[in-house]
Amino acid sequence: MDRKPLIAGNWKMHNTQAQSLALTNDIIKGVKKLGKDSLPTVVIAPVFTSIPGVSKLLNEIGASFIELSAQNCYYEQKGAFTGEISVEMIKEFKANYIIIGHSERRQYFGETDEMINKKAQVIIKEGLTPIICCGETLEQRELGVTDSHIASQINKALENIAPVDIANSVIAYEPIWAIGTGKTCDSAEANRVIKGIRNAVAQVAGKANAEKVRILYGGSVKPDTIVEQMAQSDIDGALVGGASLEAESFVKIVEGAMK
Ligand code: PEP
Repeated sequence: MDRKPLIAGNWKMHNTQAQSLALTNDIIKGVKKLGKDSLPTVVIAPVFTSIPGVSKLLNEIGASFIELSAQNCYYEQKGAFTGEISVEMIKEFKANYIIIGHSERRQYFGETDEMINKKAQVIIKEGLTPIICCGETLEQRELGVTDSHIASQINKALENIAPVDIANSVIAYEPIWAIGTGKTCDSAEANRVIKGIRNAVAQVAGKANAEKVRILYGGSVKPDTIVEQMAQSDIDGALVGGASLEAESFVKIVEGAMK
């Protein structure tokens, strides 16, 4: 199955508007130098306050080879939900992707599997693509429950979503112990877990649809890890945190994902 690689940069809570614009400019310049042929899908996810500015910049420069993502959304359309932002509001700025279920949101902001499923349904209904994160803690890994935990997260996230929409969604496997720690998960092991995710997707959406889903690895991805990661049969790209905050390292990761 020929799945187009995808490299997404999750900027987390970093960068003012001016810093986001500077970083976007540098990424555009760097990615342009790589040439357009065989570029992976390149996605950047700034903080909400930078989305309008970054969107305008990408549009003005005609940098359609870089797509925009939000890092979160709320599942209600509007109303008395102080501090929340709807999918429709994100869509206004031509973002195509929304990250949901990131372990930091699950851990610090109480995001549950049920909320993630509701968010996924609304994102798809609005015509955007969810990047659904899953992953185990170190404790779960040591207890030997990694595979069952992740299968459960995936099953719950995909409830009531049509198989064709599942096929177009993106999943990110992010072992929590590897996020921001510099401890990358062994590539063969990440591939094994991702194969398990694809099997779980096949159970709910059929094998053909499961073969279409792009499944990323995330957790301390760096320029010197990406080539080995991309060489694995089932790793279709990367969700990058720390190394996406500098244009040079992010562009090198994009280059490492070129076919
Ligand atoms: C992330 O935040 O999704 C992530 C994988 O971070 P890092 O690359 O810094 O480990």
